[in-house]
Amino acid sequence: GGVLLSTWFDRDLSLAGRVAIANEGAVLTELVDFKRPVGLIPNLAIHLDREANGSRKINPHEELPMILSRAETDAELDFKDLLARELDRSADDISAFELCAYPVESAQVVGLNQEFLTSARLDNLLSCFIATEALLNNEDAEGVMVVFNDHEEIGSVSTGGADGPFLESVLRRATIDADFERVRVNSLMVSIDNAHGVHPNYASKHDEGHRPLLNEGPVVKVNANHRYATTAITQSVIEQAAERADVPLQYFSSRADLGCGSTIGPITAGRLGIDTIDLGCPQLAMHSARETCGTKDPELMLQLLTQLTQRDLM
Ligand SMILES: [Zn+2]
Repeated sequence: GGVLLSTWFDRDLSLAGRVAIANEGAVLTELVDFKRPVGLIPNLAIHLDREANGSRKINPHEELPMILSRAETDAELDFKDLLARELDRSADDISAFELCAYPVESAQVVGLNQEFLTSARLDNLLSCFIATEALLNNEDAEGVMVVFNDHEEIGSVSTGGADGPFLESVLRRATIDADFERVRVNSLMVSIDNAHGVHPNYASKHDEGHRPLLNEGPVVKVNANHRYATTAITQSVIEQAAERADVPLQYFSSRADLGCGSTIGPITAGRLGIDTIDLGCPQLAMHSARETCGTKDPELMLQLLTQLTQRDLM
């Protein structure tokens, strides 16, 4: 889907990522997180852009460079120096880095009845958190694996992405004493990524028969073009699990005249041939710097996933 650019203006931003350090022929990596706000992208005042509330287009190249400091001369500002200071190293140690900006504002419970949770990166750290909790909930879980892939938002093609070899190679090694093909066809993959809840101000963006609401339970995502990997069979398995766990389900299928995004579900299903279902907690403002979900849905999803770790449905 890409980033919702307008939401990144006027936020207190920090930087975090990975730094490569050359070490006598080898490369060490260190993680860095500035934690405090170190930059911002201020909006242009309305007086200087009368179209700002109308047909404003954002040029990411020109309008999104982040302001990190104000200096009299360029020489005063060497980013490697700043990074080195953060890592307690000398600037000469640092050979390369991959950093991302992120908003520092912490998550909040919002709503007159505390119905909503707002945070950065709910899509898709929320699902990662719930999947981990589900695994921890069932100490006896056998043959259950949780996989977290990088780079889903930029196409999944990378060594650690869903379109890379990571999962297959882990599965092959984990089943070294078993029959990999047998394990593969007897497996179910649940691809969990947040879903589009219906936004009250934009309800027409959803098909009338498929309008998932916040706090009404996990969403089964269906798409005939397999932008989601759900099939009638995997849907039926999940419906039975949901019934046992006493969790309500909702359904999402996009309008035929609108796209719907996709997930790693179809990619992994295609690479491994494992039957897959796409599920997710409904949320609003997907890919905004500040997203919103319901406070009940994560708990309902956790109940459903914990039920699935029992593996007694297939
Ligand atoms: Zn996404």
